[in-house]
Amino acid sequence: DLNYRHAFHAGNFADVVKHALLTRLIAYLKRKEKPFRVFDTHAGRGRYDLNASEASRTGEAQAGVLKIAQSTTLRAEPLLADYFAAIDPDLREGFYPGSPLIARRCLRETDRLSAYELHPEDGGALRDLFAGDVQVKAISLDGWLALGAHLPPKEKRGLVLIDSPFEKPSEVDDILSGLEKALSRWRGGVYAIWYPIKRRALVEKLLTAIAGMAAGEALAVEVRIAADESAEGLFLGTGFAVINPPFVFAEEAKAIVDLLLPALKRDGSATARVFTLT
Ligand code: SAM
Repeated sequence: DLNYRHAFHAGNFADVVKHALLTRLIAYLKRKEKPFRVFDTHAGRGRYDLNASEASRTGEAQAGVLKIAQSTTLRAEPLLADYFAAIDPDLREGFYPGSPLIARRCLRETDRLSAYELHPEDGGALRDLFAGDVQVKAISLDGWLALGAHLPPKEKRGLVLIDSPFEKPSEVDDILSGLEKALSRWRGGVYAIWYPIKRRALVEKLLTAIAGMAAGEALAVEVRIAADESAEGLFLGTGFAVINPPFVFAEEAKAIVDLLLPALKRDGSATARVFTLT
């Protein structure tokens, strides 16, 4: 069942962290001339109206991207330059771009994007958004299937973003079996996996399994905007695990989350960290 709609959450603190890191991962791929492909297995609709009822009802963008966008200090940071360049065209119109549109804006003429979205309405919007764009394949398909069927890309270089909704605990198993298939077909790809920090046991399970699967390096980036004292876990923390991170990514990711934290934090107990899994 597809209950999750990203329109309620677009531009929240988790999107800011995820998308800023995504632009850096793509920046590293551009250091070599050879073309690459980005896979976005859970792409969403690609563009979100921040004044629509979904977004205004939660106000999450207000405490996320709209705060970041006001900061002249952050705007001057080279590590965030690609992120602002990718979001500004939409922000100016009261919209926030999703991961496929952000990735698209980072591509060169020779690079490609494959984006998957299973929700019929969001998948349709995604296909409309990229209609006629020869560099993008927007497909209404199960992203987990794509991991087993569409890898490796003919470019042999690139990145897979796995940003599933985490509506049910079994999604950790979906991620792990998807990753297992993907890695057996394409060991050298860069894999970025988003996760919410709500239930610690679930996060432990995910990260331990990723560490066991990764032949090379793997790391995680985590940002908590406030302490969570509740039993079942509130959504106050965001995580981003990366298999085969590019050289210097760990250092730059730490610099990025340290830069973002003062604007995103809700109280003095907010933290940001980067740690290796392997
Ligand atoms: N990656 C997007 C971004 O950063 O802008 C946000 C994606 S949202 C967190 C997760 C999306 O996955 C939802 O739009 C949902 O409809 C979609 N989805 C859920 N199950 C899916 C599946 N098996 N395959 C592809 N998409 C799926």
